[in-house]
Amino acid sequence: MNFPRYLKERFFRPRNARILSEAAARLPERVAAAPTYLQVEATNRCNLRCVMCPIEDLTRARRKKRLSVEEFAHILNEFPYIESLHLQGIGEPLTNPHIAELVACAKTRGIGTGVITNGTVLDREAGEALIRAGLSNAIVSLDSADADNYQAIRKGADFQEVTDNIRKFVLLRQDLDSPTPSIGIMMVAMNNNVHELREMVRLANDLGVDFLTVKGLNPAVAPGLELNPSQQQANETLGLLADPALRPGFQVQLAYLERSPVVRCRWPWTRAYVTAEGDVTPCCNCPDARQVSFGNLFDRPMREIWNNEAYRAFRRELRDGMPDVCRHCPDWHQPM
Ligand code: SF4
Ligand code: SF4
Repeated sequence: MNFPRYLKERFFRPRNARILSEAAARLPERVAAAPTYLQVEATNRCNLRCVMCPIEDLTRARRKKRLSVEEFAHILNEFPYIESLHLQGIGEPLTNPHIAELVACAKTRGIGTGVITNGTVLDREAGEALIRAGLSNAIVSLDSADADNYQAIRKGADFQEVTDNIRKFVLLRQDLDSPTPSIGIMMVAMNNNVHELREMVRLANDLGVDFLTVKGLNPAVAPGLELNPSQQQANETLGLLADPALRPGFQVQLAYLERSPVVRCRWPWTRAYVTAEGDVTPCCNCPDARQVSFGNLFDRPMREIWNNEAYRAFRRELRDGMPDVCRHCPDWHQPM
């Protein structure tokens, strides 16, 4: 028996989880436990230029960076109790040539991994490497069921190629007889595509994926594209889930309709976001280290960052008011 590991799993991990859950309820400035969820940018570059994406603004001043396996392992060493993570941020994770090795690196530590990809480079080789590495879930962003509208939104992508990639990826998982990853499609609901919601449900169902999830847009990063309340209301009456033609088990998650007026964001208390350069920022909705950075993991350990003055001040502000960067955040009232 590996005794230190036994102690960690038997005593320290449950203790960490208990303290974290208390922190999520009480929202203290100082959190005496480590995050259990992490989002790490595999790269800060992307091969597309989607209309709702601030990637140009966010990366112009940043040097091009892809995480190496060694850097990723270093980051994981700083977070002893991570249970799941997304290799995800600003940038297309599958353009990091080491992406499957990063997944495998997390998997050997018992950490579940997910990616959200634009699907453009999800060919057979990339798909097989990810499945064999043990990827837990894969979500392909597909914001329209109409080729012209899709290509107007996802500039640089080819609708036929991406939908073919999705269909083949689902079949590949079956060919390899692998239960993982779960495969889904994510639609960012905006005023230029929300009328296609019903078609999106049918397309996702036809492509064979496990689920379609529909997310809201952060209006701060793409003003003018957000939904208005009447558009949201109209969608609630669509009766999408009652469509008898859907495959059994196929799920539709309308996350953008499920806002609670009482549950606040808990990111800075329970989760962390790390950029490809190693900066720790509050969350995936604030990935710009120039706006908020609590410290850099390649300069100092997480134990010196997690409760430093900047982190504590941000928690205080989020608990008692509204930091500027959170003002238009779609996750402000989402259950975490
Ligand atoms: S694929 Fe993602 S990261 Fe790339 S431009 Fe589109 S939204 Fe931004
Ligand atoms: S409210 Fe939104 S922007 Fe603010 S910390 Fe939470 S997830 Fe991030």
